[in-house]
Amino acid sequence: MDLAAWPRVPLAHLPTPLEPMPRLGRSMGGGASVWVKRDDATGLAGGGNKTRKLEYLAAQAQAAGADWLVTTGGVQSNHARQTAAAAARLGMGCDLVLTRAVPDRDTAYEATGNIQLDQLLGAWVHIHPAGTDRTEAMDAVAATRRGEGHTPFVIPTGGSTETGSLGYVRAALELVNQAAERDLRLDAVIAPASSGGTLAGLLVGMQALNHSARVIGIDVEADATTTRRTVAGLAASTAYELGVTPPAAERLHIEGAYAGPAYGIPTEATLAAARRGARTEGLVLDPVYSAKAMAGLLDLVETGTLTGSETAVFLHTGGLPGLFAYPEAGP
Ligand SMILES: *Cc1c(COP(=O)(O)O)cnc(C)c1O
Repeated sequence: MDLAAWPRVPLAHLPTPLEPMPRLGRSMGGGASVWVKRDDATGLAGGGNKTRKLEYLAAQAQAAGADWLVTTGGVQSNHARQTAAAAARLGMGCDLVLTRAVPDRDTAYEATGNIQLDQLLGAWVHIHPAGTDRTEAMDAVAATRRGEGHTPFVIPTGGSTETGSLGYVRAALELVNQAAERDLRLDAVIAPASSGGTLAGLLVGMQALNHSARVIGIDVEADATTTRRTVAGLAASTAYELGVTPPAAERLHIEGAYAGPAYGIPTEATLAAARRGARTEGLVLDPVYSAKAMAGLLDLVETGTLTGSETAVFLHTGGLPGLFAYPEAGP
């Protein structure tokens, strides 16, 4: 595998820290060895997992002669915020097509957190109703920019393309190296799964290294069947792009029990996991992604699916700004 052959714009603070979570581990009983890979600390305008994908996507945009990034997500999209910051850093314009993907939120939801940062970062924000065809809406915005003489580059939801996923192939290499430096056996990596690029990249990276660590995705979409299909498809196309063997179907684990009723709706278990991360390790998790993944990790250890003798790494994917749109997540 020759990852260096793909152009990459450095945007993230790398390597992100790999830290033990001894107090959280003890609270689970059984002496579980749990670590956290701090991709919330990638550093770009609040950080998060999208920055690694954007290192490759922005390079692809530049290679295509683009001077403008167009992307999409929910109103509190962390991906949109990191894209707006990448565009600012690279002197590009940015349009964000945001859909009201989560029903019944209050007015603060559309004023604070990620959307506040999008506007501060100078992006053009377009809010659309739930159910809007995001691809069509982005194409319309891109056509307008083209009419103005710009060269837009359209990035789909979550930056989850073969190119974006390369960021997490690279992250897998980084993690395996860090574990080796510490003589840490790496048995499992747990991460939230939504648009799928993070999990697909991790899977392809582990496979390419012939590493046996289980990569476990916690579905946050409340549709594990679709998430599984998305991740499988993206892992296959990312492996093809890299010229490596695609991960076998049995390597793909998607846990569907922790998403709650819908995307963006935290359950009591989500909020409890957020409090536990915060109060044992000072780790701030968000109610849409990372706290659902933490609820999954806690349950998988406490029910013995991950045994106490295994070493599990929790990938903290970020999302802190979105927390402020959920004032109920705290007390
Ligand atoms: C986008 C996002 C995820 C999900 O990553 P995908 O690559 O879309 O599956 C997880 N956590 C946070 C905080 C995110 O913003």
